Amino acid sequence: PKYVYDFTEGNKDLKDLLGGKGANLAEMTNLGLPVPPGFTITTDACRRFLADGELPAGLEEEVSRHLAALEERMGRRLGQADDPLLVSVRSGAKFSMPGMMETVLNIGLNDQSVHGLAKQSGGNERFAWDSYRRLIQMFGKTVQNIDAALFDDALEEIKDGRDDLDLEAADFQRLVETYKDIIRTQTGRDFPADPHQQMRMAVKAVFDSWNAPRAVLYRRQERIPADLGTAVNVCSMVFGNCGMDSGTGVAFTRDPGSGHQGVYGDYLQNAQGEDVVAGIRNTMSLQELEGIDKSVYDELMQIMEKLENHYRDLCDIEFTVERGKLWMLQTRVGKRTAGAAFRIAVQLADQGLIDLDEAVTRVTGAQLAQLMFPRFAKDAETTKITTGMNASPGAAVGKAVFSSERAVELAAQGEAVILVRHETNPDDLSGMIAAQGVLTSRGGKTSHAAVVARGMGKTCVCGAEELEVSTKERRFTAPGGVVVSEGDVISIDGSSGAVYLGEVPVVASSVVEYFEGTGDTGDELVQAVHRIMSHADGARRLEVRANADNAEDAARARRFGAQGIGLCRTEHMFLGDRRQLVEDLVLATSGEERERALAALEPLQKADFTEIFQAMEGLPVTIRLIDPPLHEFLPDYTELAVKVALAGEGADDKDRRLLAAVKRLHEQNPMLGLRGVRLGLVIPGLFAMQVRAIAEAAKAVPGARAEIMIPLVAAVQELETVKDEARAILAEVGVEALVGTMIEVPRAALTAGQIAEAAEFFSFGTNDLTQMTWGFSRDDVEAAFFSKYLELGVFGVSPFESLDRDGVGRLVRIAAEEGRATRPDLKLGICGEHGGDPESVHFCHEVGLDYVSCSPFRIPVARLEAGRAAL
Ligand code: ADP
Ligand code: MG
Ligand code: MG
Repeated sequence: PKYVYDFTEGNKDLKDLLGGKGANLAEMTNLGLPVPPGFTITTDACRRFLADGELPAGLEEEVSRHLAALEERMGRRLGQADDPLLVSVRSGAKFSMPGMMETVLNIGLNDQSVHGLAKQSGGNERFAWDSYRRLIQMFGKTVQNIDAALFDDALEEIKDGRDDLDLEAADFQRLVETYKDIIRTQTGRDFPADPHQQMRMAVKAVFDSWNAPRAVLYRRQERIPADLGTAVNVCSMVFGNCGMDSGTGVAFTRDPGSGHQGVYGDYLQNAQGEDVVAGIRNTMSLQELEGIDKSVYDELMQIMEKLENHYRDLCDIEFTVERGKLWMLQTRVGKRTAGAAFRIAVQLADQGLIDLDEAVTRVTGAQLAQLMFPRFAKDAETTKITTGMNASPGAAVGKAVFSSERAVELAAQGEAVILVRHETNPDDLSGMIAAQGVLTSRGGKTSHAAVVARGMGKTCVCGAEELEVSTKERRFTAPGGVVVSEGDVISIDGSSGAVYLGEVPVVASSVVEYFEGTGDTGDELVQAVHRIMSHADGARRLEVRANADNAEDAARARRFGAQGIGLCRTEHMFLGDRRQLVEDLVLATSGEERERALAALEPLQKADFTEIFQAMEGLPVTIRLIDPPLHEFLPDYTELAVKVALAGEGADDKDRRLLAAVKRLHEQNPMLGLRGVRLGLVIPGLFAMQVRAIAEAAKAVPGARAEIMIPLVAAVQELETVKDEARAILAEVGVEALVGTMIEVPRAALTAGQIAEAAEFFSFGTNDLTQMTWGFSRDDVEAAFFSKYLELGVFGVSPFESLDRDGVGRLVRIAAEEGRATRPDLKLGICGEHGGDPESVHFCHEVGLDYVSCSPFRIPVARLEAGRAAL
């Protein structure tokens, strides 16, 4: 096989073989741009080296041949004593990867050729010794894994407070000796003087760095295949460090921050390699370069334009100027902020470089989500007190409160509050809803606070471990003894994790205002978002529905583009004042008592549903019958037991009966207990009451489209019983409605062919399906061991956040296929947390679902990703 490609032989589509850097160096060479000649050793050679532990047969000769050709062309040999050719050895995988070996510059220098380099440059001793010390420093650090600080400290010592430009040849010469000593003491050997040995060692080190622990971990987390390997680029050196007429720079063909047209970049005179980004001195802008060297600047502008037209996207580049001559050292399609991504995609479409289909694929749902969160004003003065994890983006300001009750209370008075807790639990839901943002001192990005906040589109900083939170004393202490008590104003930044004392001014997201229909439609970003969204809507096959339990959420969901409600939970409708009625139901000892309790609930339920049908104006509404275990609606066992005990003889009779009921209903494992369809089968009349309320409400609202959904079904027999009862009631009231089920128990997925006989639709409840498939409880495991699992790479992202394709996804696929085999017009949707997750939306498109359903705030993201999936 061919293991080595000259830069003239490759092209940009060979990233698998040549890595990103090598493929693009070849592409630029072919475009006729000034790239220093060189060659690329393929990823294939790397894979063989890693498998066999030695360089593949023939590789060394092939490299020698290419090196000889390079030497011939350049008219000097590698490390030639009187006139050396120098090269860089640069790693470059298909995906850029932190943790891998970087680059060694100036290979070929030694105690002899350093004099040749000085001569070659017209007696520039300073430049020659600077280059030599850089070689030893980079070689020691990256090839020999010596602690970089040893070299950095030695440099600082020699500098002794001086600027790097003030260092002289003699300083660098001394530094070379010190560096050689460091290598000798650290490795027990001398720095290798033989240029070919330097090159060989560097190439092997690049190969080996593919399996460096940090690189392995990074790949596991990013799900980059472990067997790709890296390419190695050998590139003849050009020098930005040989005087003030030389320098090195990085540039972007557009501003990657704002997306505005026009180049953007930094340049540093008399410098080499990473100096620009390392911040050794203040850099100058490209405009200043124009003042220094107009012809280099003009050529650079031409090249950038050429690159952008060629790649049809924003490119970033690395370049070097050697005594007034421009050299291109790297290019790739550049990273950009969310706002820039939208603006650039639309600009490129307007310029005719891409069409709108492609523009839609150039932006992501994650970027759109970022644009939807409010932000702190950039120029605000702030007092940061700590930093936690950036769990859910956005900027929130409010009075610190330490309990959900207080949050609700103050919010009701019109106060903005931030809910501060050690960690949140389901009881904090009302407080989280009432608060502007949530701050916790414990728990990671998959903690309850983080997951719920993201779902609600609420700002959240979690795991701010430096804070000592005392909910009892209603205050927390931050490092430096800062004490924040209830009522003190704080600001939290969910995009960075920062926590500030006092009020930091917030600016609303123009994109949310646009979706709400209140925005400034002249805003450039808003226009870009509008055009992308319209095109995505036209392209997508998946419908997008909302998870909404009340008219207000339903209305917002519609403004955000929902085409129906995919999940209307009914359990919230049993809280508050209505708990009383649920208690009556549980305590009923006769059929009569039970019927009375149900009869009291029915009109309330009917009113709930009526409101939602009205808000949805004829769009489908999927209503899930009651799902959680009944004891969730009853008082806490311990509290009630204490109350009864304290009252002794005088205890209230109802309390005694309640206590007995709570005890009777207690479950070791409630999520696997008496809930969902099981409730419907065990408690006579409960489901019937809900179905009747739905039917009556649908009848009362012209055009209402109800879909009745039975939760937690595992066997078709369960569903048949409930469905027959529901059908009878619907017929009696005289309304049409679909009756279907959630698929959220593995057995249901595996027997979907049977279940579809009784179901007119399936909605995949992937939260429960994930818990039951993995066999771990979402409420317990995230704090207990998810960080460990992420660290070990068991999964790269929590399966509650992004649907686990291999396991849970397989069940979904089976159920979709077998369900449709039974009933070809079976309607399929998903209503778990995953419905608003980009990766999961693509999966839903692939398996042929009809719709995804997600929280109102995630709807635009789902619309965009559904469009991208279809393109
Ligand atoms: P990275 O992937 O970390 O950017 P590079 O291989 O691009 O690593 O190299 C690091 C730095 O060295 C960059 O600034 C690059 O432009 C510079 N560099 C690499 N090869 C050469 C060369 N042959 N001549 C001059 N500078 C080079
Ligand atoms: Mg680079
Ligand atoms: Mg469920």
